[in-house]
Amino acid sequence: MPADVSPTVIAERVVEAILAQKLAPGERLGEQALAENFSVSRTMVREALMQLQARGFVEVQSRRGWYVVEPSAEEARDAFSARRIVEAGILEASAGRPLSKVIRKLRDHIADEQRAIEGADAATRAFLLADFHVCLAEQMGHQLLVDVLRDLTARTTLAATLYQSKHEAGQSCAEHGAIVAALEAGDTARARRLMLEHIGNVERALEVDAATEPDAPSRLKATLAPVALPRARR
Ligand SMILES: [Zn+2]
Repeated sequence: MPADVSPTVIAERVVEAILAQKLAPGERLGEQALAENFSVSRTMVREALMQLQARGFVEVQSRRGWYVVEPSAEEARDAFSARRIVEAGILEASAGRPLSKVIRKLRDHIADEQRAIEGADAATRAFLLADFHVCLAEQMGHQLLVDVLRDLTARTTLAATLYQSKHEAGQSCAEHGAIVAALEAGDTARARRLMLEHIGNVERALEVDAATEPDAPSRLKATLAPVALPRARR
């Protein structure tokens, strides 16, 4: 067994794959395949999967194995609203603090996002766009919120994958830039407002799809509704 692999390391790699949109909602996670991939025992893999289950990322189906969760529309909304509260709070708390080092790090991060958008690597692009929000918490010195935001962002990423968010990578990156520019100008109130708009834009991009996709009962009702014939002209 490789010395550097632990259940926590395996769990983090799974969360990273979710953030990179490499693992899709509903995807099966085979214990044996994971054990072979990490060259560890199935016991260790199960321990990692149980950690992920406690964090709400995977679920076990009896006799069928482990799956990445598929957040319901309500769970998706809940994750977005939790992010709005936490991220607005982080920006609010930054008022009056010296932020030049934070701003430099965030600018570097945005430059990485831009490079990934210009390149062809969709996974790196998705990961970096999500990681901006984790990086913000980290740079602002909120160590406990780093883990909270990584989990919340992974949840909204699953929702965005499931409900096929149309939010453009380029637009997201530009919105990150505007937030950092507001911080640089010392306008934390504006940074906070822009952050709320940004999270709202991402959420709306998937709500549109969820709204146009009727659920099964209403689809059936529509299918079986009497055909409306155009009225004959008199
Ligand atoms: Zn973002």
